[in-house]
Amino acid sequence: MNTETFYRAAFVLPVTSAPIRDGFVAIRDGVVTALGPIAERPKGAGVAEVDLGQTILMPGFVNAHTHLELSHLEGAVSADRGFVPWIEDQLRVRAERSTPQAGSAIGPAVAGMEASGTVAVADVSNSLTTVEALRGSGLSALVLHEILGFDPLKAEMVVEQTRAARAAANQSLVASAQADPNARAKASRLRIEVAAHAPHSVSRELFHLLMKAGGVRSIHLAESRSEDDFLRTGGGDWRGFLDRRVGPIPFEPPAKSPVHYLDELGVLTPGILAVHCVRVDGADAKLLARRGAVAVLCPRSNEFLGHGVPPLALLLGHGVPLALGTDSLASCASLNVLEDARLLARKFPRVLKTDILHALTRGGALALDFTDLGEIRSGALAKFAVLPLGGDRPSDPIAFVLNDVSPARGLA
Ligand SMILES: [Zn+2]
Repeated sequence: MNTETFYRAAFVLPVTSAPIRDGFVAIRDGVVTALGPIAERPKGAGVAEVDLGQTILMPGFVNAHTHLELSHLEGAVSADRGFVPWIEDQLRVRAERSTPQAGSAIGPAVAGMEASGTVAVADVSNSLTTVEALRGSGLSALVLHEILGFDPLKAEMVVEQTRAARAAANQSLVASAQADPNARAKASRLRIEVAAHAPHSVSRELFHLLMKAGGVRSIHLAESRSEDDFLRTGGGDWRGFLDRRVGPIPFEPPAKSPVHYLDELGVLTPGILAVHCVRVDGADAKLLARRGAVAVLCPRSNEFLGHGVPPLALLLGHGVPLALGTDSLASCASLNVLEDARLLARKFPRVLKTDILHALTRGGALALDFTDLGEIRSGALAKFAVLPLGGDRPSDPIAFVLNDVSPARGLA
């Protein structure tokens, strides 16, 4: 028999409707069937009630940008000498470590995300080695196969090689889904799409080929001064990095902002995840909104790398859809995206808390196209986060979620 389960909590935060004091959420077969004040819950036989006590029950979080394959770099790379030396150190350590050594950190990172209330992730991967760990997890996942290359002569080869790697990963997903019904259900929650690294690490030729082949789902955009200088002048420390790493490849700078340069190339298409968006002005924000791009903010990573603070109020003011991400453990202390929401709430005390909460949950779910996540409503997946209240009941549970240090845990 399919029993129904009732969760009751001091507060239910549906996100897309008003908070419910002393609320309940009913679920059957992993799907929400009803919610409301506890006094109004339907009664009947075959009902299991779970009292979560003095807690807030809310939709699980969406981490819309991370790199799980870099989890082994936790604490290994310092940002003290600046952004470009941080990238060079990262590449050096990655080259030194074996694939199994690097891979052993992925499983614990995924488990840690689930335990702290994350239910969906957009994971950027060069190697696609994270697909296996994500398939075995309870997370809904958009794996973003990241492509980069600044040598125009190698653009075709890069596209071909990465296409082959993606086809192999997709084939193994299909094979496991055919063999096992559980894997089949899981496969529908895991998709592999294409990401480009950034405007300053992908040649114009490679962008053209990627757009011809179906487009780009995600890109790091307007993150650093290095990127900005290079696109506006062709110089700066990124030019030095390219000279050392790939050689003196000529580049005609567009003399535009990163956002306007990508638009000129036709890369800003509806739903693209524009990750970081720190160095954007009003004209950039307007363009992002007009193209239907989603700004994925990673404020803790930006702080660690000294890039500044993403202009949250400006982006909201222009109606740019928002999601949040942690970035990798190479630039962020944890993969707990709730901490990014809390940092934004501290930096922008005048921004509506409901807007930040939305970016943490529903905004991320819509950005990743997991439309049955990120809110509690009838028909949504029962994938929750629970936060203990501690002492007295707060008057504003949304402010509590974003201001308090209370840890969240996953409940699914
Ligand atoms: Zn990143």
